[in-house]
Amino acid sequence: MTQTDGRVYNFSAGPAVLPEEVLKQAADEMMNYQNSGMSVMEMSHRSKTYDNIIKTAERDLRDLLNIPDNYKVLFLQGGAHLQFSMVPINLLKNGVADYIVTGQWAKKAYVEAQKYGKINKVATSEDKTFSYIPDCSDLPISEDADYVYICENNTIYGTKFHKLPDTKGKILVADMSSCFLSEPVDITKYGLIYAGVQKNVGPAGVQIVIIREDLIREDLPEWCPTMLKYKTHADNDSLYNTPPAYGIYICGLVFKWLKKLGGLEKMKELNEKKAKILYDFLDSSKLFKGTVEKDSRSLMNVPFVTGSEELDKKFIEEAKNAGLVQLKGHRSVGGMRASIYNAMPIEGVKVLVEFMKKFEQENA
Ligand SMILES: *Cc1c(COP(=O)(O)O)cnc(C)c1O
Repeated sequence: MTQTDGRVYNFSAGPAVLPEEVLKQAADEMMNYQNSGMSVMEMSHRSKTYDNIIKTAERDLRDLLNIPDNYKVLFLQGGAHLQFSMVPINLLKNGVADYIVTGQWAKKAYVEAQKYGKINKVATSEDKTFSYIPDCSDLPISEDADYVYICENNTIYGTKFHKLPDTKGKILVADMSSCFLSEPVDITKYGLIYAGVQKNVGPAGVQIVIIREDLIREDLPEWCPTMLKYKTHADNDSLYNTPPAYGIYICGLVFKWLKKLGGLEKMKELNEKKAKILYDFLDSSKLFKGTVEKDSRSLMNVPFVTGSEELDKKFIEEAKNAGLVQLKGHRSVGGMRASIYNAMPIEGVKVLVEFMKKFEQENA
């Protein structure tokens, strides 16, 4: 069932599938990028050619997300994990922040932030293994909270905030790693958004931060490392030191791909169509069950189980042999998880559902 060129349908949560068109273009440009005589990997990040690559990437990202002029776009390194530290280091002024804990990534961010201030857990869905998004319409937001933190799409559990929390006027910070560019976003509702690109955008190693300018501070504690200040990177257009140059180039190609496709409205439409095929089947299946409450479902990560560990294992093995790979759920939850990011073609989801139907019949 592998595709004609030997590629498989890759349902990995990340690093994850990339658009074939982008991979092909990168391959074409590998040895000699636009007559520069070299690969983008070999190029000085201070060269004119590279400057054009990073500036174009930023411009395309701004177009896609309609990013207002008073927000900076930063291309950083260190993974989402470094943002678990950079966010509190840079944004805590009163030393207080409120976190909504809807999964392991939010929890890790919450624990890390405690090194830097008084961090409150104002809501959680841990009571039901993070299978839903809690009601965030009237949370006990702290008077002096510097920000309210969410993980907008919970990669491991397959939940998504479909309505943002009422932060009662406080700044909203969101980890969007696994839903970034999957649909339009109203940037003005956030003070800071960040995303590791290896989920839905590009190769591992690039971290995109979108931050409102007034939140970029100069008056940080003396001990704060230069590299951990947003200001360092904002003042230097992400070129303070060597950026993850090749990764940013690939992200730029993905931004062009998204624009050509019709932008994020169109992407959302496609993602909804794709996810519906899988969710509709899960809702009708006698064997497979989705593990998430319906109104909290993610368009990107779809966890499901058979109810039998043995059958789960058999399914994952047989799917793999059929060219449907990386369907094993996160080690903390078990079962299966299909990540169906932007670059997963609709055919991939159709093939998966056909395979699930066949498996169901054979194992009835
Ligand atoms: C994958 C992921 C992370 C961790 O990313 P790293 O780049 O490995 O640090 C954090 N948050 C979310 C939502 C993720 O999906």
